[in-house]
Amino acid sequence: MSHRLFNIRNSRCFVPHGHNEYVKAYLVSTGHDQLDGAVNMMAPFAVLKKCWHQWIDDHVDHSLQLSSQDQMLDYFKNSEPENLPHIMITPGDPTTEVLAACFMSKINAILFDQGLAVRCRKIEIIETPTNMVSFSGDPADVICTDHYPTGKAGAAWWQRPDMSINDLDI
Ligand SMILES: [Zn+2]
Repeated sequence: MSHRLFNIRNSRCFVPHGHNEYVKAYLVSTGHDQLDGAVNMMAPFAVLKKCWHQWIDDHVDHSLQLSSQDQMLDYFKNSEPENLPHIMITPGDPTTEVLAACFMSKINAILFDQGLAVRCRKIEIIETPTNMVSFSGDPADVICTDHYPTGKAGAAWWQRPDMSINDLDI
């Protein structure tokens, strides 16, 4: 992926650059925990991972991650609108911290939509071999949307189970 941290001027993070990020999602059961003595699983791993991997591989991978306040968005809207679907837009700078909260929210929207009694309660995003963020709180408590335009149907992309990575009308 690539990104830039728009609100940290005079920083090398202001210059668009890239990372090979790794995401670890930890899932827990929200149903009754006793195994049934026959199938002995809450859901097949393939079922749990299918939509999440599709979102990561087809939409997050090679995305450009920008703040909703970043002026580069105007460039893409005016000059490269065909690339807007590849731009992940976060409320404020696309730091590893906000990504962790947004990604947990997205996983849980997907799992809820599938009717699975499993939720993500901890997520880790490894940005570089020496920089990692772990998050285990409630995304709704930490994501600040004061300066973020309302998404489709009043929900932002991280709250919806679809494959979106921004809330542009595209
Ligand atoms: Zn970076």
